Amino acid sequence: MNIVQQHTIRNPIHCRGVGLHSGVKASIVLRPAAPDSGILFRRTDIVGGGAEIAASWRNAIESSLCTTLSNGEGLTIGTVEHLMAALAGAEIDNVVVELDGPEVPIMDGSAAPFVFLIECAGVAEQDAPRRAIRILETVTIGDGDKSACLMPDAGFSMSFEIDFASRAVSQQDLSIVFDSETFKTEISRARTFGFLHEVDQMRAAGLARGGSLDNAVVVSGDTILNEGGLRYADEFVRHKLLDSLGDLYLAGAPMIGHFRGLRSGHLLNRKLLEALFAAPDAWCYTTQSRGEAIDALIWRERHRASA
Ligand SMILES: [Zn+2]
Repeated sequence: MNIVQQHTIRNPIHCRGVGLHSGVKASIVLRPAAPDSGILFRRTDIVGGGAEIAASWRNAIESSLCTTLSNGEGLTIGTVEHLMAALAGAEIDNVVVELDGPEVPIMDGSAAPFVFLIECAGVAEQDAPRRAIRILETVTIGDGDKSACLMPDAGFSMSFEIDFASRAVSQQDLSIVFDSETFKTEISRARTFGFLHEVDQMRAAGLARGGSLDNAVVVSGDTILNEGGLRYADEFVRHKLLDSLGDLYLAGAPMIGHFRGLRSGHLLNRKLLEALFAAPDAWCYTTQSRGEAIDALIWRERHRASA
């Protein structure tokens, strides 16, 4: 069996756009990085020290609207989740993300522009085995009618359920088994969404300044305001899976297990990782092999056949 190796990008690449909440324009540059160095954000607009923040749940601060990293000294990088999801989906382990502003650009509200960026840069295999987190015991975090859960599974899979009063969204439940193409085709194009009344409230609170129909699906009552409609019939739940994948990648490694979200969001996702790492018996590090991924697919097919 072939052990799965770590990956970085082949060449530096950049893009520019506006931040969803800050409204501030910023450029990001992705740079190749050494094996075992992980994903590191670097604020290039800050002179002197303290401008680097590792992409770790330990550096994520309390935030329900987006996932924000902080160095603990007031320096933050906002809305990292869609870029993190693209890096997770493309199986990039090591990369430096340079940013000359406070927030990762929202682009079109999905992870697709970042997937395109990574594909243009190229993916390079590195001479070091990829480390994964295998879930051994179920870990659950709940808050009222919301919950997030990690449980053992043969490969990596995710499911999510949302339930909104608006008939444009209503109840959506989706389960996805990940292989190398799943993220790009099934998840990456799903956009951020919001309700018009919330957008007005957020604007009043100085948030969503960069938000528009070009980078978010906006729902008013039972109507979708975007002229082009939806990219997937259940785009909303797919975006929740996208967000959760990005948040989970702050664990510092891909997972072998199943994630289940029920009306949850960034805050619960961070608490879930906190709970996981506080329970040493609930997980272990492991290497992955290509054969193991095939075994997982065969296991699922058998499971499905007998169900
Ligand atoms: Zn999102």
